[in-house]
Amino acid sequence: NVRVRFCPSPTGNPHVGLIRTALFNWAFARHHGGTFVFRIEDTDAARDSEESYHQLLDSLRWLGFTWDEGPEVGGPHAPYRQSQRMDIYADVAQRLRDGGYAYDCYCTTEELEERRNAARAAGKPSGYDGHCRDLSAEQVAAYQAEGRLSIVRFRMPDEPITFTDLVRGELTFTPENVPDFGILRANGAPLYTLVNPVDDALMQITHVLRGEDLLSSTPRQIALYKALMELGVATGIPEFGHLPYVMGEGNKKLSKRDPEASLNLYRERGFLPEGLLNYLSLLGWSFSKDQDIFTIEEMVAKFDITDVNANPARFDLKKAEAINADHIRRMDPKAFADACRPWLRAPHANWEPEDFDEQAWEAIAPYAQTRVTVLSDITANVDFLFRKEPVEDQASWDKAMKGEPAALLTTVRSHLETADWSDPEALKQAVLTAGEAHGLKLGKAQAPVRVAVTGRTVGLPLFESLQILGKERSLARIDAALA
Ligand code: GLU
Repeated sequence: NVRVRFCPSPTGNPHVGLIRTALFNWAFARHHGGTFVFRIEDTDAARDSEESYHQLLDSLRWLGFTWDEGPEVGGPHAPYRQSQRMDIYADVAQRLRDGGYAYDCYCTTEELEERRNAARAAGKPSGYDGHCRDLSAEQVAAYQAEGRLSIVRFRMPDEPITFTDLVRGELTFTPENVPDFGILRANGAPLYTLVNPVDDALMQITHVLRGEDLLSSTPRQIALYKALMELGVATGIPEFGHLPYVMGEGNKKLSKRDPEASLNLYRERGFLPEGLLNYLSLLGWSFSKDQDIFTIEEMVAKFDITDVNANPARFDLKKAEAINADHIRRMDPKAFADACRPWLRAPHANWEPEDFDEQAWEAIAPYAQTRVTVLSDITANVDFLFRKEPVEDQASWDKAMKGEPAALLTTVRSHLETADWSDPEALKQAVLTAGEAHGLKLGKAQAPVRVAVTGRTVGLPLFESLQILGKERSLARIDAALA
């Protein structure tokens, strides 16, 4: 029975790398009919925040990830917030100490620093040197008499650690590269190095799928797991799979601080969850050689962690947008019209809320659905329908009004006056004929009409737009432009 976990720390806004990790874990669990455990790693009171905790839950829900165990849903291993599990960690740390798997380390920061520099100068490995591994009772008493504080350090085995990474294959870490590491601070606070594998063990996690940045903690966790098995806390060692780095601009690792890394950005711009997830799934994985647009169900059906590529993935905003646009085109028209409503009714839509017209929206929505890339694009595309006057954009105006637009617009107006407004094709004919009288092709002839009526040089199909806006309002706007 597959059991995976997504275990973020609630620090700051969720970023796309984190969401990719959630997605791969979730898809893996769903593919195997397994369990997706959501755990909050909030043992660092200085950096964790409630706001970020709520944002994580909200983000997962927005994306459509359901968790089988975790905050708010509970489960057999509750609680799922590490801040509520502190006595468990204290107990396990005590047992590790009692069993000789861990020891008290009295080295001060200055001493560690000094020995590290000396080791570096001598070209030797510069990790912890095992100084306090086997102190005698007298040495301990002397340190304590000095008033020194101690941390608890885990004793790494003296043999190499080898494991088969599900993404990268067999990996070996030699003891020089994995020194003894701290598991409790001097004040007794447990560290990630302890709480993460202890919970993975207690929650019976079978597969740990996480970012490559955590690869160096894996040999330590495997060693700790072995100790936990000897203590009867763990029943086995999970399999590990490390997801490749995501590279951003300039081939640098995408950082939490890069604006395009923030999940909120995509939400605010109106990405569809399925469009964003489709894109994120391609960061290190591929659906097939010739298809990169698919549904989340299709992804789940096909996803296997062993198909993930170890090479760094490149983040490409343009591609994310193109994929999202594709998902918008595939939406059921009613679902599209509904999905846009929050944008149309938002206070920041650039018209008075009471001027929003449901009927006009339903008429124009199908034309918008084939054009917008993200849902927030919608307001600029349809604002001409809901504003008392079109947006004023001098640059568009100047561009469309090059030449002799007034004469042209006057002719267009008179043709439109007598046209059949129930048929967009008739409106097109009217503009076409008016243009011919001025020796202009349709494209040139319709440009000033579009600007006069919509305030913009580009937009939805013009003649359908005119029809939906209506004869009276359209002609009044042309008159206003001519005035
Ligand atoms: N809380 C850790 C993080 O957010 C979890 C890492 C892990 O998956 O082991 O980086």
